[in-house]
Amino acid sequence: MAGRINDEDVVTVRERARIDEVIGSYVALRNAGGGSLKGLCPFHDEKTPSLQVTPARGFFYCFGCGEGGDVITFMEKIDNLSFTEAVERLADRVGIQLRYAEEGSRTEPGQRVRMMEALQAAADFFLERLGDPDAVEGRRFLAQRGFDQAAAGRFGVGFAPRDGHALVRHLRGRHYSDRELVAAGLVRESGYDFFSGRLLWPIRDSGKQVLGFGARRLFDDDRIPAKYINTPETLLYKKSHVLYGLDLARTAIGRKSQAVVVEGYTDVMAAHLSGVETAVASCGTAFGDDHARLQRRLMGNHDAFRGEVIFTFDGDAAGQAAALKVFGGDQNFIAQTYVAVEPTGLDPCDLRLQHGDAAVRELVARRIPLYRFVMGNVVSQHDLDRADGRLAALRSAAPLVASIRDTALVSGYVRDLSGMLGMDVEEVRHEVMRVASRARGKPAEPTADAAPETERAEHQLPDPGDRLLATERETSKLLIQAYHDQVRSLVVSLAVEPLPVQGEVTRRFVVANSAGLQLLSVMRRIAELKSRLQRTNPVEAEKKYNQMFSELVVLEARRQQLQTRSIGAQD
Ligand SMILES: [Zn+2]
Repeated sequence: MAGRINDEDVVTVRERARIDEVIGSYVALRNAGGGSLKGLCPFHDEKTPSLQVTPARGFFYCFGCGEGGDVITFMEKIDNLSFTEAVERLADRVGIQLRYAEEGSRTEPGQRVRMMEALQAAADFFLERLGDPDAVEGRRFLAQRGFDQAAAGRFGVGFAPRDGHALVRHLRGRHYSDRELVAAGLVRESGYDFFSGRLLWPIRDSGKQVLGFGARRLFDDDRIPAKYINTPETLLYKKSHVLYGLDLARTAIGRKSQAVVVEGYTDVMAAHLSGVETAVASCGTAFGDDHARLQRRLMGNHDAFRGEVIFTFDGDAAGQAAALKVFGGDQNFIAQTYVAVEPTGLDPCDLRLQHGDAAVRELVARRIPLYRFVMGNVVSQHDLDRADGRLAALRSAAPLVASIRDTALVSGYVRDLSGMLGMDVEEVRHEVMRVASRARGKPAEPTADAAPETERAEHQLPDPGDRLLATERETSKLLIQAYHDQVRSLVVSLAVEPLPVQGEVTRRFVVANSAGLQLLSVMRRIAELKSRLQRTNPVEAEKKYNQMFSELVVLEARRQQLQTRSIGAQD
């Protein structure tokens, strides 16, 4: 067993590691008066800050979830460390040499700490290798994108040697076991380095701990065809929770209540070097809710609509992010979402290269709210010079506005929309409210694929003359007549098999069941549409994109309605 840390040293660590500084590197803290600070709690999801930090007492407490304690407790909880590990990390941070109660120097650190140290050692190793003759291709890649040696150093860009064993040899020499290196995502089970012959960007958390790497292909004979690969999921590296550049952007994000989301590592570099210090990028995955939560904590959005998350788009990505944000995301987040579309289609890295730093700053400055961007797209596909065109535009844009849950925002967008259409505000408001009430499950008018009305589901057989059901009817007829014997036994067995209900078959059960069936097909259509949207460039194929987007809005409303029905919550 490991040695215990000297009690006096624990006290010194607790005194010297300032709790406001330590917590402040994970959460934006603002003055709350009376010597206290507050911020968004990292231990539960919240939108108004209930985490209170009192530096004078060295204490934190969350009024929302009840987490609390001193600076050591905070480290234990935030990084999932043991008490000893937490003290050791803090001691490193403030430069205290720990003494241990039992003989032997340092305790055997736990797996997480070993992984953290191995990742840092790997980052240092890769950084040094960028100067090697072997790395000339990597340096050329950077130079061609406008990054000199100083820029590479600032972002810790490194090079993984080509021989496939360089890192594992180096780290074995530092007494890391192969098992530890595999667990950290640095070495493959086969014993080869996880990355070889690639340019590497270290991905750190907001506390500057290296969690993993992003790697760019450089050589034609690279056995991995993917242009970019990342550290696999490990105890520390979770792709849905990491953002490249967060360590560099953290302070600016908190100060400006703004975060800029770009596409890649070189875009983050270009943005920072151009003066956009709030830039980050998701790594090998789409920007998701967990990323949004992470940013929100750092922005410490006290008043709901102050913070801005700006997505820069170079074309393709617009569709992806727009659809994702509107339908997958958290509504409060959407309200604060902006888009910055570069008309030339250049990404920030190329933009800086061709037009200089100011062009990148301008791109960000030209942001517009996501809703207005999408609404503008939807509206622009109609001929607004004609009355029927304006009406059609209203019909396609209204579901979008109706999907906004925050009523205060809705009226603003109603005004925007009426301005875009050149229509009366009241008329627009009326349409939006009509759509909203229908989405809440009160079908205003039957449509072709509407759910079977409950009366019919209960008692009646479908009308044989119903043209909508003609195909089903003809097919059933054909099956029954052509495969008479097999069908008869099927009908008999279906007629006697027990139903998955207790007691009587209620109307509610029939409705829920049929809604469940329709839900499946609607969800399939949504998935197909989302995937097509992601592949459609909203700038080049504007019309097609907008059409699909409107269709998606309608399908989503339908999905929500069916979902409620399918669980029997509504009949
Ligand atoms: Zn909390």
